[in-house]
Amino acid sequence: MSTTPLALPIAVPEPAERDAIARAEVLVASPDRNFVTLRLTTGDGLVGLGDATLNGRELAVASYLADHVVPLLLGRDAQRIEDTWQFLYRSAYWRRGPVTMAAIAAVDVALWDIKAKRAGMPLYQLLGGASRAGLMAYGHASGRDVPELLDSVRRHLDEGFRSIRVQTSVPGVRTVYGVASQPTSTGGRYDYEPAQRVPLPVEEDWDTRAYLRHIPTVFEAVRAEFGPGLPLLHDGHHRMRPIEAAKLGKSLEPYDLFWLEDCTPAENQEALRLVRQHTTTPLAIGEVFNTAWDYQTLLREQLIDYVRGSVTHTGGITALRKIADQAAMYQVRTGFHGPTDISPVGMAAALHLGLAIHNFGIQELMPHSAHTLEVFRTSCTFTGGYLHPGESVGLGVDYDDEAAAAFPYEPAYLPTTRLHDGTVHDW
Ligand SMILES: [Mg+2]
Repeated sequence: MSTTPLALPIAVPEPAERDAIARAEVLVASPDRNFVTLRLTTGDGLVGLGDATLNGRELAVASYLADHVVPLLLGRDAQRIEDTWQFLYRSAYWRRGPVTMAAIAAVDVALWDIKAKRAGMPLYQLLGGASRAGLMAYGHASGRDVPELLDSVRRHLDEGFRSIRVQTSVPGVRTVYGVASQPTSTGGRYDYEPAQRVPLPVEEDWDTRAYLRHIPTVFEAVRAEFGPGLPLLHDGHHRMRPIEAAKLGKSLEPYDLFWLEDCTPAENQEALRLVRQHTTTPLAIGEVFNTAWDYQTLLREQLIDYVRGSVTHTGGITALRKIADQAAMYQVRTGFHGPTDISPVGMAAALHLGLAIHNFGIQELMPHSAHTLEVFRTSCTFTGGYLHPGESVGLGVDYDDEAAAAFPYEPAYLPTTRLHDGTVHDW
């Protein structure tokens, strides 16, 4: 009796020598803030960069990459982006999570950088070409009181911003998320940088009822000063319970916000049902999400209007593009996360993707410091309120090792928050 031989697995072809990843380096530097960067080099010397920065937990991703991922990359085919993404996601067995997904993102973006350089075109061309002339960006205005806030809005308008996020101090609360400690936004320090180089996280205080009373009066003042046309955004930074968020959304309706961001903690997707039932203020969420599954209920039930993921924390261009396409089915647009802890590499990746997709909405922009831009030389531009990734091949970002050597890693922590009775709250 003859037996049919079992099929043997088809061998994955060996990469051409020029395409094999010959070098993988994890670069950690702190040009005014910490950044983790992955640099891949192919057999013929093409270089790709990926951002792996996880603010306040940077070295965990550096170790994940250096100890567990780099050995898997050497010799792999740099052309096989989807295959490498799936391999890293599935072969770890322990899926998802910010450390894993930031590491995968860095590999993914570095491979897209290499592929676009191999093709001899800016990355957005490889992703389908431009869907628009530029990417509308919003800046962060803040003030310890309303007059200081109005000055900050004016300064952002002078700097070219045409959409503004508004954050302000709350009477009775000592320090509030998103409010700069000094009013200037240019020079050697950031307008607002939450991560601080301290041995322990700074503890801030919080009072949701005082916040809910105060914020509508702030938007009333801003609308009175700047009129009805200026797109205004606000970030609740996960601090409200669902009924509180519903109340805020409703009370802000007269001021016609572009969006209300992160109104509740993101883990409970169902919470947004309650918020949605009570307000037509557009809702944006997702900067701390790391996979498509975090958006599943929110998109299927049309509970949000903008997805806030970043390339860096959502597994790279490969993953974020799938989320954007899924969002497009529900007329949900993008508003990719763009604080200063998204490195110029991560920002460039967001801009190439944002330029190429149809359902781009808006891009967050916190300009990087001069020191950061010495280390990361980027072709990105910001003109007339619009960002553009530039026309350099690949991502359009180069990493300057010599400049980086002057800025060694320094531990830094994001703050934490307690209510006035001492209870730990969402920061
Ligand atoms: Mg935010």
